[in-house]
Amino acid sequence: MSKRSSRQSLKADKQNSKQKDSMQAELRQQKQRVELFSEVTLKIRQSLQLKEILHTTVTEVQRILQADRVLIYQVLPDGTGKAISEAVLPEYPALIQLEFPEEVFPADYQQLYSQGRVREIANVHNPAAGLADCLVEFVEQFDIQAKLIVPIVQTLNVHSNGQSQSTSQPQNHLWGLLIAHQCRSPRHWVEFELELMQQLADQISIALSQAQLLEHLEEVVEVRTAELQQVNRNLQQEINVRMQAEAALRQSEEQLRLITNALPVLIAYVDDQQEYRFNNQAYEEWLGQSPRNIYGQHLQQVWGAESYQRMQPQVEAALSGQVVTYENDVVLKDGSVRSVDATYIPHRDADKIVKGFFSLTSDISDRKAIERMKDEFISVISHELRTPLTSLHSALKILATGRLGTLSNEGQQMLGIADDSTERLVRLVNNVLDLQRIESGKVVMDRQACNAATLMIQAAEAMQAMAQQQGVTLVTQAADIFIWADIDYILQTLTNLLSNAIKFSAIGGTVWLTVDQDDPTTSHPQHSNSEVVFRVRDEGQGIPADQLERIFERFQQVDSSDSRKKGGTGLGLAICRKIVEQHNGRIWVESVPGCGSTFAFTLPAFHQSH
Ligand code: ADP
Repeated sequence: MSKRSSRQSLKADKQNSKQKDSMQAELRQQKQRVELFSEVTLKIRQSLQLKEILHTTVTEVQRILQADRVLIYQVLPDGTGKAISEAVLPEYPALIQLEFPEEVFPADYQQLYSQGRVREIANVHNPAAGLADCLVEFVEQFDIQAKLIVPIVQTLNVHSNGQSQSTSQPQNHLWGLLIAHQCRSPRHWVEFELELMQQLADQISIALSQAQLLEHLEEVVEVRTAELQQVNRNLQQEINVRMQAEAALRQSEEQLRLITNALPVLIAYVDDQQEYRFNNQAYEEWLGQSPRNIYGQHLQQVWGAESYQRMQPQVEAALSGQVVTYENDVVLKDGSVRSVDATYIPHRDADKIVKGFFSLTSDISDRKAIERMKDEFISVISHELRTPLTSLHSALKILATGRLGTLSNEGQQMLGIADDSTERLVRLVNNVLDLQRIESGKVVMDRQACNAATLMIQAAEAMQAMAQQQGVTLVTQAADIFIWADIDYILQTLTNLLSNAIKFSAIGGTVWLTVDQDDPTTSHPQHSNSEVVFRVRDEGQGIPADQLERIFERFQQVDSSDSRKKGGTGLGLAICRKIVEQHNGRIWVESVPGCGSTFAFTLPAFHQSH
């Protein structure tokens, strides 16, 4: 190799290594910048507080760029603005919180910045920088020699109403500026510095959006929290109201228990499955079972099969919606049998469906015993009276014939009164004994198939004389209907009703005796077999509505003077009712005071099965 060529190659080598060095330096620098940038970005991102982000940005930019002042200028909607964050060397005036007039930052500048313009001014005094004189004056106040300005732009979605639908379009909004100042001397800003500023301005823009989002979120959370708090308050209020209601309910339940437990009667609620849902303490005293024990038990379990059998039809009637009152015999825990009076009152829900019934049962054994004693007493007295009365009556009758001597007119009159009174007394004694016998159950109804027509005619014949005497017409509309009954007792019932009808009719009145066969489908639900209905109708004085039930009880008369005036005993209807009930029939009266009354009773029709 020649000397020349070796020199040349040495030179080329040197050049190569120089190039290599500068490339390496460039790469190192680039690496450093990337690292620097990511370090700053990281610092910025570490905070969610906008103020802190802005502060970090200005401090870092000032440090890296070695600028004399770095600030963030916020553009306000009216065109003015102010520095809201700043890092400045102590020897230069601070601009923080200083408000800049509108002229400093005219609208066309704003427009350019919002489109992304960046301004780098190496020397504000250089006419090439193109700053207006007033602006140069303005910046001189703050010792500004060179400046670098990058916009902080936010992309907003602006809603615009199109013809058919609303659309949203992205629009750039200038939020502010990131500005670096050099005060010592003019400065030529390099590419890297520009890039860093731009990238950090973008970071601020992102942070702004996040902060706004956060703010919006916070607002939403605040509203939602307020709503939730309201809901909570309402809920709490509702809970309080409920708790109060529950406490009130508990208290009223306790009160109810206290009252029902203090009463010496059985009080219960039975559901539609015939199971107890409420009992008072008296159940424990009567049956030896605590209310807790009885709760949920079936009636039959509590009362035993025998008592339940007697209860069952009444229970079923109550569950079908009827108010039921009846008497029953029950066996208590000590084996004693007590007479009770029970009332079942159906309980209906809002839709009127029977859900169960309230039951009230009281011990009437004592009353029954007294009644029995009274009845026995009356029965004994009546028996004892009957024989002397009969002889008295016969004696008076003999006297009246005049066989034992003629009496003066006055004497005859007295004898008539004595005879009438004795007759009434005999009737009374006979009625008392009749009723007594039927009530005691000693009388068995001798039932047989008989023709209603025959009975009606017989009864009418028996009463014909009385009707004539009273000037009353008796009309019988008999029909050949067969009934299943005791002939004598039904005759007694018919004559009793006819005699009352005649007794309470005015002269010239009419009394009708009729019979009908009821259609089984329209008859009373509890009496599904067909029934025969007898009716005795008159045109007499009638009976007031409040007496319609009462007159079927013993010694009950509408007018207490009736017994004297009409010769009644007040026992006839009570006897009729007993007779009809013994035949499983019903008896009742309908009346219009002043127009007349209709007494009716039912008897079972005769079926082949009887
Ligand atoms: P009495 O012997 O008094 O007739 P009842 O038991 O047969 O006894 O009748 C009771 C009462 O019912 C009568 O006293 C009378 O007040 C009333 N009464 C009965 N039947 C009639 C009737 N057909 N019209 C008006 N009142 C009647």
